Amino acid sequence: MIVKQDRKKCIGCGYCADFSPSFWEMNNTDGKADLLNSHLKGDIYQYKPLSFEVDEFKQTAELCPVKVIIIE
Ligand code: SF4
Repeated sequence: MIVKQDRKKCIGCGYCADFSPSFWEMNNTDGKADLLNSHLKGDIYQYKPLSFEVDEFKQTAELCPVKVIIIE
């Protein structure tokens, strides 16, 4: 399983960082969310969650109003 963030489409609402501050942080420079400990592959930031982290990422993905957080 992998978490992906299409960061360029992030609108900076902050819901992810409010709900899940262990994994998301708002960037002071451009106002978008950073997926912590992720790596950039192409245009997409990726993070491989541990099994106990998956539920929180799924809930966060549902909260994102523009659906740029994808769990695969
Ligand atoms: S919830 Fe989605 S749109 Fe809002 S800051 Fe997080 S990644 Fe960006």
